[in-house]
Amino acid sequence: NFNFSAGPAMLPTAVIERAREEMLDWNGSGMSVMEMSHRGKEFVSIAEKAEADLREILTIPQNYKVLFLQGGASSQFAMIPLNLLKDKKKADYINTGMWSKKAIAEAKRFCEVSLAGDTSENNFTTVPDQRSLVLDPDAAYVHYTPNETIGGVEFDYVPETGDIPLVADMSSDILSRPIDVSKFGLIYAGAQKNIGPSGLTIVIIREDLIGNPADGIPTMFNYATHADAGSMYNTPPTYNWYVAGLVFEWIKDQGGLSAMAEINRRKAEKLYTAIDNSGFYANPVAENARSWMNIPFTLADPGMDAEFLSGATQRGLLTLKGHRSVGGMRASIYNAMPEEGVDTLISYMQEFEQKNG
Ligand code: PLP
Repeated sequence: NFNFSAGPAMLPTAVIERAREEMLDWNGSGMSVMEMSHRGKEFVSIAEKAEADLREILTIPQNYKVLFLQGGASSQFAMIPLNLLKDKKKADYINTGMWSKKAIAEAKRFCEVSLAGDTSENNFTTVPDQRSLVLDPDAAYVHYTPNETIGGVEFDYVPETGDIPLVADMSSDILSRPIDVSKFGLIYAGAQKNIGPSGLTIVIIREDLIGNPADGIPTMFNYATHADAGSMYNTPPTYNWYVAGLVFEWIKDQGGLSAMAEINRRKAEKLYTAIDNSGFYANPVAENARSWMNIPFTLADPGMDAEFLSGATQRGLLTLKGHRSVGGMRASIYNAMPEEGVDTLISYMQEFEQKNG
């Protein structure tokens, strides 16, 4: 089967198989990873290996901390202003869709938000170009969503923000291609697309941004709490951390992020070409802003959506139903989706069009 869910999403088969093999007795320890103390030497070795592999894959500079947290990307919508505003009262946000909007709504509880860019006028089908961004010199940081999971809109560049720290919600595009981490002040991602099971949230933060939080900040919301304790101030999501580590090893086995990027680019190009070359399917996103990870498409006749979906399920092409706000279909093709899955989807789409188009 090929699972096109937007998240929690498909994991690499090799990772699931390895987790199953090790489920009852990890490495001769006589324990399942689920049963291990997070402070025991077994789990500490798992945790350290996962962090080291992530640092290697993303070439994370030494002056960045990697935090393994809970609370989802949604908690970061609040933790970011609570920790990064310092003595400032404003932050810049780029609004490119549903997830940026949620981040903006939460930030407004803590500070003034100015929109450095906003594509709501074209119904979130483009990304603003660098020259159009209006950056406020008094902003504490600039936040953007490099990949909008629902709209299928992805930045094809990293915004240049000078001395103002750039903050990115990489929930749905982290590890899909190489990035220059040093361009960012903070990167965060819920794990459930390209990293591992839901319940783990990764934060990669430049050290100078830690340690000056809002007055009265809850201990658990303070990045310093987790940075100082190696993400073990309290019990971390141990099993999820372990599975994330298996995914990082798998990415290394694939040849790292440049190899992932090559495969991801090819998968996405094929599917967009199939959509564009048909008279039956459509995707509204501007060519330079099309996501490699989430590809929404509509059928010429929405009355056929249900039939399309049930035929797809019969062929093992699962969870293609689009987000309720957009309708139609959405194929999420994260790292774990093999090229064969995309090929099978395209054949099915062509067959369905021939029969019904
Ligand atoms: N940001 C983006 C871009 C997402 O796709 C999601 C979806 O899961 C979230 C934030 C919310 O993440 P979480 O469910 O981990 O809070």
